Amino acid sequence: MSWSLIVAEVEQRAAGRCEYCRMHQSLQGATFHVEHIVPTVQGGSSTLSNLAWACPGCNLHKSDRTEVTAADTGESVPLFHPRAHAWSDHFAWDGFRLLGLTPIGRATILALHLNHERRLRIRQAEQLFGLFPPAD
Ligand SMILES: [Zn+2]
Repeated sequence: MSWSLIVAEVEQRAAGRCEYCRMHQSLQGATFHVEHIVPTVQGGSSTLSNLAWACPGCNLHKSDRTEVTAADTGESVPLFHPRAHAWSDHFAWDGFRLLGLTPIGRATILALHLNHERRLRIRQAEQLFGLFPPAD
């Protein structure tokens, strides 16, 4: 499978939404990225099972991490893995804010800045266009 076909497949699978923050790309100036969930430098493959559709903000903040140190316990917590985890098991909407339902959800919200002021404003704008909250 060529890279351009892989990109198209990942975008279609995600229905145009970032698989971390669920932002829709239709209102964004930038095209979203194909993100390696496990980075290639850590042995992650470029196959569909290790790829996610990610907005520039989530991609930038996640960087090459797959886990973070939890602020409250000091323990290592995995970040949300779009292929291995179900989004709704770990996150829920509270108005325009995201709630972490699990240690994975809470760690990912902090690490990827998922409740940054700018993201809340984007969700408000998405609501005006019928794109928030996400249908699924
Ligand atoms: Zn995102």
